[in-house]
Amino acid sequence: MSLIEALNDVSDVIFPPQCLGCGEILRPQNGKLFCPDCKEQIKFITGDICPVCGTIFPDSPAKSHLCGNCLENKTYYSCARAVFSYETIILHAIHQFKYGNNISVGAMLASFMADFSFPDVAFTDYSLIIPVPLHIKRLRQRGFNQSLILARSLAKKRQIPVNFSLLKRHKFTLTQTGLHKTERKQNIKGAFEVSDKKIIAGKNVILIDDVYTTGATINECAKTLIKAGAQKVAALTLARVLHS
Ligand SMILES: [Zn+2]
Ligand SMILES: [Zn+2]
Repeated sequence: MSLIEALNDVSDVIFPPQCLGCGEILRPQNGKLFCPDCKEQIKFITGDICPVCGTIFPDSPAKSHLCGNCLENKTYYSCARAVFSYETIILHAIHQFKYGNNISVGAMLASFMADFSFPDVAFTDYSLIIPVPLHIKRLRQRGFNQSLILARSLAKKRQIPVNFSLLKRHKFTLTQTGLHKTERKQNIKGAFEVSDKKIIAGKNVILIDDVYTTGATINECAKTLIKAGAQKVAALTLARVLHS
C-alpha cells in the first residue's frame, strides 16, 4: 500500500468523504466524488467524437469522421480520450489538486479515472504507461507530478507497468496557460526526450496527462515516443477543453 493510499484510508475514517464540488458529506450510495446536485453539473465526454483527438461533435449527424484539426495537423497519438469536460466543478477540483496541493482530491480523481471505460481503448493492447513529465524545476516548485499520480492509479487498476523516468522534459518552457494554439506548439517543441530507446521499442504506450487543452503537449510527447520506436501511443486525460 502506498503512502497516499494509507493516508486516504485513515482520512476516510476520521473525515468522511465530502463532495469535491460543495463539500457536503457523501452518502455511500452517492458514489465517491460528488453529491447528486454537483453531479448534475458535470459533463462527461460522450456522444459522437473525433476518432483521433476525441473532441465532441455537437449535434453532428455524421459519425466517425476526423475533425478539422486532425485533418489539418499530424497527430502522433492514435487516439486521445478524456473522462470529463474541463469546466465548472471539474475545473475547480483539478485546480485544487494541481495548484492547491490537495493530493487527496487528486487521489480520488485518479481512482475515478482508473475505473473509467475509455471508448476505443483496450487496455490489454498496452504494455507501458507513461505520465507526461514535468521539468525538474517545475517538479520542485509543485512538489509532485499530477500526471504521475493519475498514471500510478491507472497502472495499478489495469495491471500495466508505469515508467516515470523514461520520458524526460529536458527543456524548461513557459507555462502553456494563456498561449494560443500555434504558440503552444512552438513553446513545447523539442521539450521531451526518451532516456532509453530500448525500453520503448515496439511498445504500445498509454500516455497520461491531467488536461487536454489544444493537444500540443500530448502530441509532442507522442511524437517523441514514436520517434524513439514506440509502436502506438494512446493519450488519456482526466479532462479536456471543449472548443466550440
Ligand atoms: Zn456537491
Ligand atoms: Zn480530431
